[in-house]
Formats: sequence, C-alpha cells, structure tokens
Amino acid sequence: MEKRNGNFADFDAEDKTIPRGPESWPSEIQQCKVCDNPTRSFCKSCSSAFYCCKDHQKAHWKIHKNECFPIRVVVNDPSFGRLMVASQDLTQGQRILEEVPILITPNTRSENGITCLGCCKKLTLTTAVPCIRCGWPLCGVQCDMESLHTTNECIIFKERAIQSSMGNLGNSYQTLCEIGVLRMLLLIEREPRLWKRLLKLDSFKQTRKQVADKMFNLNSIICFIRQEVSMDIEEDLIDTAFGILRGNAFDTSDYIGFIDCCS
Ligand SMILES: [Zn+2]
Ligand SMILES: [Zn+2]
Ligand SMILES: [Zn+2]
Ligand SMILES: [Zn+2]
Repeated sequence: MEKRNGNFADFDAEDKTIPRGPESWPSEIQQCKVCDNPTRSFCKSCSSAFYCCKDHQKAHWKIHKNECFPIRVVVNDPSFGRLMVASQDLTQGQRILEEVPILITPNTRSENGITCLGCCKKLTLTTAVPCIRCGWPLCGVQCDMESLHTTNECIIFKERAIQSSMGNLGNSYQTLCEIGVLRMLLLIEREPRLWKRLLKLDSFKQTRKQVADKMFNLNSIICFIRQEVSMDIEEDLIDTAFGILRGNAFDTSDYIGFIDCCS
C-alpha cells in the first residue's frame, strides 16, 4: 500500500487545521493548486486542496483560508476536554459546519414535558396527539404517517405494549434518554455502518464512574432495553451507547443529533 501523506498543513498547524483521522484522508493523486504537478499531499484541515510542497501550500493559503474549515477541533484540552475553536474570524450567523446527523432523537436536556417523538417539537396537552398505533405523543397526522418515531420505536412500543411512563402523554428526561439509547441500538442491525461510526465516539466510561449522574438512571435504561424492549444486548454495550449519547450529542432547541467530525 502506498503511503498517504497529509502533513502539509503543519506549517501553521496551530491555527489553521482541523485534525481528521487518516481514515478520512483521500488516497487519490490530484494536481497541486499552484503548479498543477500531480501530488498525493493535501491540506489536512479539509482534505480537499492538494499541494506538491509546503511552499506551494503556504503561497496558496491567502486564497485557501476562505475555503478551508473555519473551525478546528481540539481533542484534549486540559481544562475543557474536547472542543471547537475558531480558526479564522467568524461573522455573526456564519455557518461553520454542515453535516447530516447520524441519528436524531428528542433533546433530553430540555424541560420535562410533552415531546413529539416524530419531529421532537415541544407540545402541550392540547396540541399533543397520541400515535394511533402505540399511543405515544406526536404533533399530528404528519408525524403519525412517517417520522423518526414510526421508523424507530413505534412498532416495538405497540408490540410490547410499552406505555409512556409519565402517563398523560408526558415524557420525562429519563424516558427520552431511554428512547435515544434505543434508537442508537437499533442501528446495530439496521445501519451497521452508522453504528460503527457512533462507536468511535468517546463514551466517557472512566469519567462517568467517578461522578454520579444526577440526571439519568443507567440501571433503568438497561432495564428498559433488556426487559421492556427485550433486546438481547449486553449491559456494557448499553452503558457505552448511553455514554456516547450523554457526551457527544449536539443540542438544538428540540432535538439532539450526532456529528462525527471529531472521530
Ligand atoms: Zn505545486
Ligand atoms: Zn484546507
Ligand atoms: Zn411531530
Ligand atoms: Zn407510535
């Protein structure tokens, strides 16, 4: 196998690069942006601009910095752990990242209340409509026909007569977290490729052992998956899925999703 070379961004690695794993590096030969010579070396930040040498990369940076990633991922910051920092001046409202989430699930960190399991919208007792199959809360016909709920847990809830633990169409943090973990574990058979990508994320097992989780009860998640849903999945793997959800999901107001730019 030919050696791939992604080192050229090192000339200014502190500010301009987003570390991406060698797995995502391109293997093809392309033309240098400056002199058109064929090369395998590229900007490690974005893997899209190829250069024959560091000098040509440097020379092209004035142009390329506008196309290159505006953010950089710091994996092991001593105070904050993993975080993103700006690698250039950002303007208000500038889009810095666009990626289809591996998985979307209701936000477990918003207030307890009623959430549409289809589109993750917050609902009230008057706007919530029970799913015609399983009785869990939805926002209306559209989410009842086809949504994240119908393609994930709906059939399981119906077949196993699993009801909303809060009654009255409510969902608690805990319940939404259980549904999130269930959606993750359903990927094992349905979307093994996506599951593998999720598994690359840190589940923070050591850290979680040291600090008690005041928000979620892992045992009850394990109970939900193994007994209520009857999935034959080892406790340790459920723990891993929960940790990945807890430590990596990106919040928007209503739902959370995973991106794996840091893997
Ligand atoms: Zn060149
Ligand atoms: Zn770049
Ligand atoms: Zn909905
Ligand atoms: Zn349903």
